[in-house]
Amino acid sequence: VPRSTAPKSGQLWLAPTEGTPRHELVADVAVCARTWSLYSYAVPPELVERLAPGASVSVPLGRAGRTLDGWCIRVSPQPWDQTRKPILAVNAAALPLTATVIELALWVADYYHCPPARVIESIAPAALRRGVKTRVRCVRQLRREPPAELREIDARILALLEKEPRPIRALRDSQRGAAAALKRLADAGMIEAFWCVEERGPEAVRLASAPAEAAEPCPEDEFTLSAEQQAALRQIADCLAPTPTFRVLSLFGAPGSGKTEVYVRAIRAAVATGRQAILLVPEIALATQIGQRLSRRFTRARVLHSGLSGRARLDALRAIRGGNVDVVIGTRSAVFAPLERLGLVIVDEEQEGSLKSLAAPFYHARDVAIKRAQLENAPVVLGSATPSLETWHNLAESKHYQLLRMDRRIAGGAAPRVERVDPRRGPRRGLLSQTLLDHLLRVIGDGGQAILLHNRRGYAVHLRCSRCGLPLLCERCSSSLVLHRAEDAVRCHRCGLRRHAPAACPDTTCGAALEPGGLAIQRLEQDLHAAIPTARILRLDRDTMRRREDYAAALSRFERGDADVLIGTQMVAKGLDFPRVALAGVLDADAMFSMPDFRAAERAFQLLVQVVGRAGRAAAGGVAVIQTTDPEAPLLRLACDAAVEPFVQRELEQRRRLGYPPFARLVRIIVSDPQPAVARDGAERISSALREIAERLSAALRIGSAEVCAVARQRGMHRWQVLILGPKDGSIQRLLAEAEAQRGLRTAAKRCVVDVDPLDMM
Ligand code: ADP
Ligand code: ZN
Repeated sequence: VPRSTAPKSGQLWLAPTEGTPRHELVADVAVCARTWSLYSYAVPPELVERLAPGASVSVPLGRAGRTLDGWCIRVSPQPWDQTRKPILAVNAAALPLTATVIELALWVADYYHCPPARVIESIAPAALRRGVKTRVRCVRQLRREPPAELREIDARILALLEKEPRPIRALRDSQRGAAAALKRLADAGMIEAFWCVEERGPEAVRLASAPAEAAEPCPEDEFTLSAEQQAALRQIADCLAPTPTFRVLSLFGAPGSGKTEVYVRAIRAAVATGRQAILLVPEIALATQIGQRLSRRFTRARVLHSGLSGRARLDALRAIRGGNVDVVIGTRSAVFAPLERLGLVIVDEEQEGSLKSLAAPFYHARDVAIKRAQLENAPVVLGSATPSLETWHNLAESKHYQLLRMDRRIAGGAAPRVERVDPRRGPRRGLLSQTLLDHLLRVIGDGGQAILLHNRRGYAVHLRCSRCGLPLLCERCSSSLVLHRAEDAVRCHRCGLRRHAPAACPDTTCGAALEPGGLAIQRLEQDLHAAIPTARILRLDRDTMRRREDYAAALSRFERGDADVLIGTQMVAKGLDFPRVALAGVLDADAMFSMPDFRAAERAFQLLVQVVGRAGRAAAGGVAVIQTTDPEAPLLRLACDAAVEPFVQRELEQRRRLGYPPFARLVRIIVSDPQPAVARDGAERISSALREIAERLSAALRIGSAEVCAVARQRGMHRWQVLILGPKDGSIQRLLAEAEAQRGLRTAAKRCVVDVDPLDMM
């Protein structure tokens, strides 16, 4: 038998018979393993029907033929190859992804240098492949004959349990006094509690769409759009119909100019053409709040974010995949929502850093949204009062970009008046200048509200030696420890270390007393309370907001008017508009501009414009007070005037001179290990391996030397980095791919991450 026609063992169906063309159906599969390649498998006839791009499959890998999970990327006829192994099974339970989402995932894998299967896994969580199992605490009846005298509630519960066991939670929620009754019955040996496993497989989705219902009419529907809103909407609509067109529309709208209403009407227009929309927002709390607002206007809207439980997420994804959803509102991962007829993508607050993923793949949802819109042939709207420098740069460079401006506030009136004060001059109470206090008293007296921002980083209560000035640092990650007076403890806000506050200098040869050398939100709260004892203060920072629900709850308490002053870190700058806020205060503007990061000025500018904008909703003209030691600093003045374009020109010029993004592509490789020498050695090897390849590849690639990260230690790991700068033509991606193929990125260090387009430079 000639070798080429020898059937594979046990796979006679694969052997081509005489005379038929030697082709077979082949699936390219992203295998869930640390590999960058796709693998090809033969498709057995009995699986042909059920195999489509996006399906989850089981395949053999390697000589040992380990069985692994994978994702079918594409299926095509290929010349017959006897060494090709067959797909073992199609996982019927899995929800398929759409073909475009698969293509998007492959682009993310390539651009952000991440194994394709890992990208797909981050899009389609385990629950999608395996279904969800939840453990529910239930009770069942033990003995049938009840004691003579039984309270009414106890009897009622027993009667319920007569038929079948019940979840405890359901009983508690439906019957008053059930908790106590359950305890009594258990003590009497009448019932017992047990864990019940509830299983729900992700059954096949129904691909039929439910008929659309009309949403309830609501007041916003009656708004007459402003001329600027109309113009913006018209430009978006032009890309929706008659020919759907890929276009990046930068909606540069002043705070209060009515961007949300433009989003809503644009989504309506897309839905009217039979297509669907995604609205990305930077925070879960915002996704929830905007989701609630939009669900009044769209019956077929779904919220999708990482805070959802496995089951809720699965339900949402199932509805989306089933075609029963018009709008998906969500945080960054919602950019991958498996909508089949996507016609519009909107990214609200596109400059927000929270759109960037914090784990591999380190994708930026704005940039993925742009890529997706391109693949879907749809417009993408990037909304912001302070567009990112990347967007400004692209507006100048790319023919696909277009600027939509909305300068006017809907409510009319002037922008808030901004006062810059140096708290060191003139009287003050602790952190609060007299100017700020006067405004606070006036605003609270008028029944208004105020927001105070105090950036924490580096400005918390740091302990320093009163004699030698040595700061108290975290021994695990060398960032400053923060004093928490209430617990008499010091804490590391980076790695979570917590210990009793020491009294004396860490340098034993000095040993003098420690004293607070910085300032923090808690101190601001104390000062504010001392100065205006009647003010109702709401503090919003990582210490008071442990969970996301706390954050959302705090925002709605403030919205309801349960507090007069909202104080906190940059969290206070975000969120929906609070119409009664008439004063915004910034305690220490200088700190924001002086971070050791090439994006510090851009971030500080955006934050200031945002905070000042918070005071702008008040009908009676808002005020913003900016405390600074350098009131005449040029960047600060531009921020206070919300002079976006002059600032952008200045900053872009600076970046161009430095050869930094958005003029170049930047990649940051972080190598970390508990042993400092291992981390350094790993980074040095990577740097020289990359240099070697770069020399052959392109003269335009600049590979930095191994260097210590600004945050030298974190969670017990020493951190070293290698920075790569290069042109935006894909050559950095080629460099990384080649380095990977040559194992140049393998290291003995515990962790090595590749961050393409990094935002965090610390
Ligand atoms: P932005 O997001 O641009 O800061 P918003 O979308 O929050 O602004 O709009 C500001 C306020 O103006 C909201 O209360 C909104 O309901 C209202 N609004 C928006 N468009 C109109 C309109 N055309 N007519 C009247 N009120 C509007
Ligand atoms: Zn620490």
